[in-house]
Amino acid sequence: MNEIVVADNVPKQAEAYGKQRKSILDFVGSQLKENTDYGHPFPGSGKKSLLKPGAEKFCGLLQLEPVFVADTDTWQMMGGKDGMLVLICFLMSGDRKTEALHQLKELGMEFKLDIYRNLAAAEGRGAGNLEEKKTMNENNLVKIVEKRALVDAVLRLAGLSELFTQDGEDEAQKESKHCLTCPECGKKTIIGPGKKAKIKNFYCYPKLGGCGKKFAMDEPRITIQFENPNNHDELPGPEAVGDKDNDSLPF
Ligand SMILES: [Zn+2]
Repeated sequence: MNEIVVADNVPKQAEAYGKQRKSILDFVGSQLKENTDYGHPFPGSGKKSLLKPGAEKFCGLLQLEPVFVADTDTWQMMGGKDGMLVLICFLMSGDRKTEALHQLKELGMEFKLDIYRNLAAAEGRGAGNLEEKKTMNENNLVKIVEKRALVDAVLRLAGLSELFTQDGEDEAQKESKHCLTCPECGKKTIIGPGKKAKIKNFYCYPKLGGCGKKFAMDEPRITIQFENPNNHDELPGPEAVGDKDNDSLPF
């Protein structure tokens, strides 16, 4: 019996998914404007980067609001430095947000992350550091990190990562969502040795706006970020981020 039900449902699910994809793509094509809602391609990739106004339009379309919560665990794993901020953005419908506030009252603030995680339509993460820009102060750090977390959440929610990459209005314009986050400067600009294997370190790539620090291949603040800790190949090398001439690298 089950087999029949499954076989019967699959085409419908595929059709529903196809329709949803189509309406998202229609929305991108008709409502989002270049240079306002999305920006310039990341070098070496054909993708545009989704900007904050574009992410906010998606939230409007899907009737979701962002809720930002400090991600203390990740912050601690990344060294717990003063001046570094890590936030999670939960995208929530109005009803779910009300329910979350109700549960917070009942269960207590120590369950905050779990409560939001259970009720949110999607979540994304953003990190940043006061030192990444000379003009950065605490106010604009919060704004920038909120923006990074929001864009990350929208890209995950709408399955948009095939169309868009992260970022950016700020200096971190070239950050790649495929890079890992630097424990020193907080930008997503850490690359790996890559195919040519000329480098034997993780490297915070200056050509992407990174700080230029290198890290050992067993640096826990970086390896903790791998989905599969044994597979460093998931991290792009210089050639994957558009740099064919990696003879200029310092190692
Ligand atoms: Zn760095």
